[in-house]
Amino acid sequence: MNKKLNAKQKLALERIYRLFEIAVKADEKYQKRYLQLAKRIGEKVNVSVPKELQKTYCKKCFSMNVSGKKDGNLFIVTCKCGFVKKFNNTKE
Ligand SMILES: [Zn+2]
Repeated sequence: MNKKLNAKQKLALERIYRLFEIAVKADEKYQKRYLQLAKRIGEKVNVSVPKELQKTYCKKCFSMNVSGKKDGNLFIVTCKCGFVKKFNNTKE
């Protein structure tokens, strides 16, 4: 994460964090909308959802009903829908 962000991208990132904050507290049916919106905001200005947030939701079905566990150097996130994402713990 050493990329330099321009003002628009910084703003987008702030909004993404904010939307995730809201989504965590929201009903499941609204969560999906918040998460999709957050992703779209990022895509617009070429900012990806931060890794720490990526670990909290499923990017396939946009659910926050995921469970994460550490497995050696990996952090594995599993969703109800069956989607599995592995994160490398060694970097960052
Ligand atoms: Zn899912």
